[in-house]
This record gives sequence, structure tokens and C-alpha cells, in this order.
Amino acid sequence: MKPYSLTRRIIVAVLLVEMASALAFIGLAGVYEGVSHFRAFDVMLRGRADSMLGAVQDSEDSKDTLMLDGNQALVPKRDLYFVQEDTGRILGQSENWPDAPVFANKTKDNEFANLTMNHRAYRFIRITGVRMVDPGDPGGGVARHVTILYGTRTQQVWETVAHAVEFFSAASLVLLAGTGLLMFWLLRRGLAPLYQIADHAAQVSVRSWKFSPPPSARAVRELAPLVQALETALAGLEQSFAQQTQFVSDAAHELKTSVAVVKSSLQVLMMRQRSPAEYAAGLERLQIDSDRMEELVASMLTLAGLESGEEESAPIAIDLTDIVSDVVEQFRTMSEVAEIALEFHTETSIWVHADREKVRLLCSNLIHNALQHSSPGQTIRIKLRREAGHAELRIIDQGSGIPAESLPHVFDRFYRGDPSRSRRTGGTGLGLAISRAIVIRFHGEIRLESAPGQGTTAIVCLPASLPTTLPADFATDHMLSAKLDKSS
Ligand code: ATP
Ligand code: MG
Repeated sequence: MKPYSLTRRIIVAVLLVEMASALAFIGLAGVYEGVSHFRAFDVMLRGRADSMLGAVQDSEDSKDTLMLDGNQALVPKRDLYFVQEDTGRILGQSENWPDAPVFANKTKDNEFANLTMNHRAYRFIRITGVRMVDPGDPGGGVARHVTILYGTRTQQVWETVAHAVEFFSAASLVLLAGTGLLMFWLLRRGLAPLYQIADHAAQVSVRSWKFSPPPSARAVRELAPLVQALETALAGLEQSFAQQTQFVSDAAHELKTSVAVVKSSLQVLMMRQRSPAEYAAGLERLQIDSDRMEELVASMLTLAGLESGEEESAPIAIDLTDIVSDVVEQFRTMSEVAEIALEFHTETSIWVHADREKVRLLCSNLIHNALQHSSPGQTIRIKLRREAGHAELRIIDQGSGIPAESLPHVFDRFYRGDPSRSRRTGGTGLGLAISRAIVIRFHGEIRLESAPGQGTTAIVCLPASLPTTLPADFATDHMLSAKLDKSS
């Protein structure tokens, strides 16, 4: 998307609205000016027509006629008039009166009409009046009806209206320019906290995660959520970056150690000429070392995948009882060889929303730890129960236990309580870190309770769920048994 300026957009939008308002105002003002000027113009026109009527007098001759007194009818040069008495006699007309006064019939008494004559716009009024001829005669004289058509050019009115509109337009333009500049200045001032936030955010880097916008930026109500979101995101990023850095350095250290072990085994083997049996034993040791290295790399990849949150498959409802009993059976032979009893106690099927393989890995890590730290003749109890909306899995051993000072670190990556023992047993120190990452992924909790010499209990809580997404074999096995239960 093409970048654009928010300030410019707002200013343009407001100016457009202002311009539309100014145009509407100019239009309305123009109409108002026109109406009021024409009203005054009409009053003036009627006044002139009335004066013209006043100038119609008895002709004082022997006939009963009227005449127009030229002295009284002082008419502006540009005006048009036409005076006629009811006998049809024209009493007077302006010089420029057109030959064919077609408009005479267009108006009624006391009405105004706009007409174009000689290519010029005129406004006319038609008035009628009665004049008495020889009023001193017995009988009061003769009444004569007079019709007057009087017109004046409207050009001046239009010019006045046009001047008013010009003035309003010029004033609006000046106001628009003024408000545009003022708005630009105000917006720059108003958006200053945003620029400050951007400046501070630009200074954040992997070397310095410090993000501290000035208090003025925090004080803006609209920007406070943005500042907070940035702070939270950066805090999370810093933590995750530190974790990643730590992980890389821990992993490098672990790999370096493993490679050093392989290298030293090789150096020992090549120090002198060996017998075939010695070479065979040396190669076997090398094989074991490289297997451990492979296991370490696999564990690191698993943990990295879990911590990066990459979604392999959406959690589905799985039967935890099923999985735990499966894993217990897998460790059965190992426990028998080690002469350690393995007991599994459960009440019923318990369902959780999780990933089958990840939960299997979680269980085997914990049972493996218990086996590694138990002695022959001891018993490992695995208990699974449903407890207030969650599934609780306990793996209880009677083994060596964990010293109090080590307990807070057992979930740290590459932490081994006894490194020499772990090297012997092949531990990478990632088992519990992976287990915790799995439990967190499925919104659960994990903790270890331990007393040195008495044993350790690993406790896992996962939110229990109803089986919404049923596994393929569920319908056949479980529904069939439910049906059988009902029928029995
Ligand atoms: P691996 O990666 O192969 O599991 P590990 O077992 O050494 O190696 P974790 O499973 O993470 O690593 O365990 C970390 C440490 O916690 C162990 O080295 C051990 O000292 C201690 N620990 C874990 N479980 C138990 C247990 N059941 N009893 C005693 N100590 C334990
Ligand atoms: Mg382990």
C-alpha cells in the first residue's frame, strides 16, 4: 500500500468539508442578497410608476382627455414607460419604447414581470389608476382609466448581488487558507506525542530494549493503549530474545561437550596401535557417544519447536487414561529389569484437550526420571484422577529425591542434579524443560515435590474436557459398550 500522510489526509478532509460549507453559505447568501435587493427594487419601481400616474392630468382642453405632464414625470434615462388611457389613446411613452409591446398583456394590475427587451433584462410593473376629467363639471366630470407600464433595467441589482457573492467568496477563500494553516499547525502540535513515541520506538534494538516514551505521550488517552501494547510486546520480545540467546549458548555448550567427548574417545583410540578387540570396543563407545549427541539434538529441536509455539496440529480431546497406561506398559520391561515395581491407578476415563504424541512424551519423561532415580525393590506409583475440572497425574517414586537447593532449577534447560550421574545414565537435562513446555502449551501446570532420600512426586494438572472431537475408534469401542451397558 502506498504510504500516505495522516496529517495531510485530515487537513484535506476538513478543508473539503469547509469548502462545501462555504459554497453552501455563498449560495444561500447570494439568494438572500438577491431576494432582499429585488424587494427594495420592486418598492422603488412601484414608486416610480406611482409618480408617473401622478403626472397624468386633465388636458384642460375641450375634449374629455388626459395628458401626461412632462415636468412632473421626471424619468431616469434608462427606464421604459408606457401610459395609455382607456380610450386607447397613448398619453406618453419613453423614447426607447419598443414598437411591438408584446409584454403589455403578460402582466396584470400591480404585478411585476421580468422581460428582456433590446437584449437587456428589465423588470416591469403594471398599474392602473382613475383620473377625473373636468371634475368641476356638474355630475363630477368624466372618469378615465389609465394604465401604466413601467420598467427598469435589473442589471444593477444583479451587479450588486454579484459583488456580494464575490466578497463572500474572497472572504471564504481567505478563511479557508487561514484555517488550513491553523489546522496544520494544531495537528503537528497535537500529533507531537505520536512522533515522540515513534522516535523512542526507533531507538529500540536488540542491544537496547529500553522503551520509555515521555510522560506527555502517556498522558494522551488515545495513545496510552498503544504505549502499553508496545511496552508489553517489547518486554515479551526481550524475554524471548534473552531465552533464545541463552538457549543457543547452552545448546552450543552442550554440543561442544558432546563433540569433545567423541573427540577424546577417538584420540584415546588412536594414541597407539590397538588390537581388533580394542578397536571394536572403542567404536562401540563412539557409537554410544554419537547416539547421545543425536538424542541431545532431537531433544533440543523438540524444545525449540514447543517454545516457538509453532502449531503442528490443533489440540483434540484425548483419553489421558489410555495414553498413560500405554506409556506404563512401554516401561514395564525396563522396570522389571531394574527390579522396580510399576503401578498404575485410575478410576475412569479422563479426557483432556491436547496432542496425543506430546502428552505421551510428557508421561514418558516423568516415568523415565522416576525409574532413573529409583533403586531395586522400590515401587513407582502412577495415579490419575479427575479433580475439580482438571485431570491430575501423579508419578510417585521412592527414589533418591532432589535436594532443596536443586528443586527450583530442575525445570531449567540442561540442568542436571548430578551431571556425572546423568552422563552415565545418558541424561541431557532437557526432559523436564520439555515436559513443562508441553504442559504450558495445553494450559496446565506441573510441579515436583521431593524430599531427599524419601522420593519425588511429579504432579501434572491439565484442564479436563468433554470429548468433543472423538477419535475414530471411539464410536465403535465406547458407544458399543455404552449401548451394551444400557441394554443390560
Ligand atoms: P533427560 O533430558 O534425559 O531427561 P535428565 O533426566 O537429567 O535428562 P531432566 O529430566 O530435566 O533431565 O531432570 C533434571 C534433573 O532433575 C535430573 O538431572 C535430576 O537431578 C532431577 N530429577 C528429575 N526427576 C527426578 C526424580 N524423579 N528423582 C530425583 N531427581 C530427579
Ligand atoms: Mg529426565
